Amino acid sequence: MTDFEVKKMNMLYDTVAQSISRGNFPHGVLVECENEQDGVGFARYIANCLVCVGENKPCHSCSACLKAEKDGHPDIFETDGIVKSKSKVFSVDAVREIRSNAFIVPNESDKKIYILKNGQNMNEQAQNALLKILEEPPTYVYFIIVTASRSTMLETVLSRVQTYSILSDEIKISEKEENAVKSFVEALLSVDELKLMEATAVYQKNNQFAKSVLVILSEVFRDTLVKKSGYQREMRFTEQVNALAMALTSKHLLQLVNVCDGLIDAIDRNCNNNLLLVRMCYEFKQAIGR
Ligand SMILES: [Zn+2]
Repeated sequence: MTDFEVKKMNMLYDTVAQSISRGNFPHGVLVECENEQDGVGFARYIANCLVCVGENKPCHSCSACLKAEKDGHPDIFETDGIVKSKSKVFSVDAVREIRSNAFIVPNESDKKIYILKNGQNMNEQAQNALLKILEEPPTYVYFIIVTASRSTMLETVLSRVQTYSILSDEIKISEKEENAVKSFVEALLSVDELKLMEATAVYQKNNQFAKSVLVILSEVFRDTLVKKSGYQREMRFTEQVNALAMALTSKHLLQLVNVCDGLIDAIDRNCNNNLLLVRMCYEFKQAIGR
């Protein structure tokens, strides 16, 4: 994974932890992954956050976290649904067993989590059986289905779950993000004051998009610092890095990195979107002494 990809993956982990802390995490989740190990790792992280009773989830220190991280938590179940050896099928019998088990209240936690691996081998019959409980799960139950591709799931199942994709092309920078980064750098370096306001308009009512662009911008400013100190390394946004290196001092660039970090922090604390846009215009300009 490149630095960008690692950062975006970390962002995905953060998003999950925040949504669980706010108490509005969906009861059905689909994790789409190229590599099953990555997908299961992410599913276990979600399960850990769900059972954690600490403040910053996962806190790594409450007894639920210690159990989830070590020997296994009694309310986190993991299965690939294979009942016959030599068969890869996630069987309908396994789903039926999970369904009846789900109605038994949890042991220690106030939640019960089922990690269903091997989702790509869940046939239509098994998915329909799962759908029955996905439609109206007991309030304490959460399902996390791990699959190689969302295309292996029935539309009816997809409509009941929130999908998290950890396919590498989704972790890469999207065209929309790339364009936003380019126009933001151009606006930042422009003498026309209105340009920056125009460039921030794309983040209106969309703090999460602003966050993903700020993460990339912060990396671009760091790359520019690296370039100014004479190191050669392969970077994305070469044109923007060169323009920034020509126009700004290292001190400016350090301040820009700090502004990005401060704004990302504000977004994580659910800041108001209008205020965010105002701060973006003001703090970036101030950072470069304009
Ligand atoms: Zn914890």
